[in-house]
Amino acid sequence: MSAPLAPGAVIGILGGGQLGRMLAMAAAQIGYRSHIYAPDGRAVAADVAETRTTAPFEDSQALGRFAAACDVLTYEFENIPSAPLKALGLADRIRPGIPALDISQSRIAEKAFFRDLGALAAPYHAVADEDALLAAASSMGPRGGILKTDRFGYDGKGQARIARPADAIAAWDSIGRRPAVMEGFVDFQAEFSVILVRGQDGEIGFWDSTHNIHEDGILRRSIWPAGDAIAAQVGAARQLARSAAEALDAIGVLTFEFFATPEGPLFNECAPRVHNSGHWTIEGAVTSQFENHIRAIAGLPLGDCATVGRRIEMSNLIGAQIEDSAAILADPAAHLHHYGKLDARPGRKMGHVTKLYF
Ligand code: AMP
Repeated sequence: MSAPLAPGAVIGILGGGQLGRMLAMAAAQIGYRSHIYAPDGRAVAADVAETRTTAPFEDSQALGRFAAACDVLTYEFENIPSAPLKALGLADRIRPGIPALDISQSRIAEKAFFRDLGALAAPYHAVADEDALLAAASSMGPRGGILKTDRFGYDGKGQARIARPADAIAAWDSIGRRPAVMEGFVDFQAEFSVILVRGQDGEIGFWDSTHNIHEDGILRRSIWPAGDAIAAQVGAARQLARSAAEALDAIGVLTFEFFATPEGPLFNECAPRVHNSGHWTIEGAVTSQFENHIRAIAGLPLGDCATVGRRIEMSNLIGAQIEDSAAILADPAAHLHHYGKLDARPGRKMGHVTKLYF
């Protein structure tokens, strides 16, 4: 274990979106400065950070200068290429870690890793070419399947539903004929995630699991208490999440998404970072996912993950839903988080609102 970072130390965050923004705000609260590295000059995380680097993730010179200016490195987005980081010898300085990043970048690698840990999951087939696609489509059950790109998918992007085998070619065309996995469609009771933090001494804390409601592949709401179907499955899901965090020797926050089914929790995917389904923890937990991630990577003691309150609802504000702050805040239980994005395009996550009831 390394000594805790002193106040004034610099946290380097790869990625400049709202997750980086909320991490930088948590870092500032405990006296750290943040340096955001993002390819996009409008990166909203940099609005609340001390320093920004605008450069592609593949730019080794810029990455090297950034790393030299930071005391610890983390990422807020899992699609960061790991090869330049490894080539620069930065693997030991990045949290939660390069193994967690690599596993989560490929659905095929991720599924194999979690299967080896004993996870239950939807049946799947790797799809590398048209023959594999047609074979996978003809073996689908009556509920059909979902075709997902192996790499670079998020928020339902890079996915296509296949209701009948005859839809397979059109579905593959729609995701750019890239290497993919075909997953059986799961008739789940509800969706939930397990979010944990692992400290440098190996201590693990879990936040409560909310009921996560998605529409069009995008999270819309997280609700706690999550209901009986989820509550009955959280224990088994946590065991799997713990084994994964330990096998990856990850430090910081990791998120694991599950489908609650009558057969038990089916593992869906893992994000090696803070997560949208944990935004409620800013007001709804003793210590938020953002603060505990910063504490873990800085080598500080972890805070309590316990939930505060009787009922919590987090709703994403997507596209134009962000526009009327006064109407959103008319409910005294509401906390508005505006991500500072200027262009409220349809489907874009612009902010969220958390309501806490005691
Ligand atoms: P993902 O990007 O894999 O998390 O998928 C986004 C959302 O699509 C999930 O949260 C589910 O709501 C839905 N979904 C993904 N995979 C499946 C599946 N195999 N069966 C049913 N729904 C799914």
